[in-house]
Amino acid sequence: MSIAYLDGAYLPLEEAKISPLDRGFLFGDGIYEVVPSYAGNMVGFAPHIARMKNGLAAVGINLDWSEADWADLCNRLIKENGAGNLGIYLHVSRGADTKRFHGFPENIAPTVFAFAFEIAPPPVADKALVHSYKVSTDRDLRWERCHIKSTALLGNVLHFQQGYKQGHGETLLFNANNELTEASACNAFIVKDGIVSTPPLDNQLLPGITRHIVLDVLRQDGTIPVEERTVTMDEVASADEVWITSSSKEIAPVIEIDGVAVGNGEVGDVWLAAQALYTAGKFNY
Ligand code: PLP
Repeated sequence: MSIAYLDGAYLPLEEAKISPLDRGFLFGDGIYEVVPSYAGNMVGFAPHIARMKNGLAAVGINLDWSEADWADLCNRLIKENGAGNLGIYLHVSRGADTKRFHGFPENIAPTVFAFAFEIAPPPVADKALVHSYKVSTDRDLRWERCHIKSTALLGNVLHFQQGYKQGHGETLLFNANNELTEASACNAFIVKDGIVSTPPLDNQLLPGITRHIVLDVLRQDGTIPVEERTVTMDEVASADEVWITSSSKEIAPVIEIDGVAVGNGEVGDVWLAAQALYTAGKFNY
C-alpha cells in the first residue's frame, strides 16, 4: 500500500480525502510536479521544485515552502514507499473554499498532496532493449499557458486519448502554423543530419526538466550539435530520428508517426549516444 502525504499527515493513499469544494477538484486550480527517483536518488529535484515555485507564482498560489521542505517530503515518501523506481507526485491546489466562486478566495490555505507511484526502470542506452514509440499527430488545441504545469490537464488528456485509442503511446502536437509544440505529456525533439533540434521555450510548451537535462548533457559533451528553434511539420516528417522526453521516459525514440516510419524505422544512433550521456549525467541534476 502506498503512503501518501496530505496537508501535514502521512497516511495510506486510500485514506487521503479532500473536500469536493477544493478548487483543484472544481477548477483544476493547482500546480503539480512528478520527480523521478531510482533507488532513493532523485533526478532533477532542484529544477523540478524551481518549476513548481514558478508555476505557483504564475497563478498566485501562496505556499511558503522552501526547497528543504520539499526535500523532506520527497525523502520521507521514498523511505515509506520502498525506494524502488518511483515517480513522486507533488500537487498544490489553491485550497478548499466554502462555495463555488471563480475569484480567488482570501485566507484559505493551499492543499498540499503528494504520493509515490511505481515507474518503469530507467531506459538503458541499448537499441535492443529500449521501448520505442508509435505516435499520432494532432493540432494543438490546448490553452496558451502551456508553460505552466497546471493540474488542469483535460486538453492534454484529450490529445493523449486521441493517439491512445489508435494504439499509440503519444500524440505529437502542432500549432496553427504547422510548427511542432510538444506531445501531450512529453517534450519533442528531431534529429536531422546529426543535428538535434527542439522547439524553443515559450507559452506553447512545458519547460521540461528532461528536455533541459538532455540539452545540457549534449552541450557539455559537445560532439552532437543542438538547436532550440522552430521545428515544422515537414521537418518532423522528414527527420532521421524523433524523440519524446519526460521524467519517467527519459529519452524515448519514436519510430512511427501516423503509421509512417521515422527515418529508416529503426531506433537511431544519435538516440543511443544521447541516452548514454543522459544516463551518465542525470544524477548531477
Ligand atoms: N510536456 C508536458 C505537457 C508534460 O506533461 C510533461 C511531463 O509531464 C513534459 C512535457 C515533460 O516534462 P518533464 O521532462 O519535466 O517530465
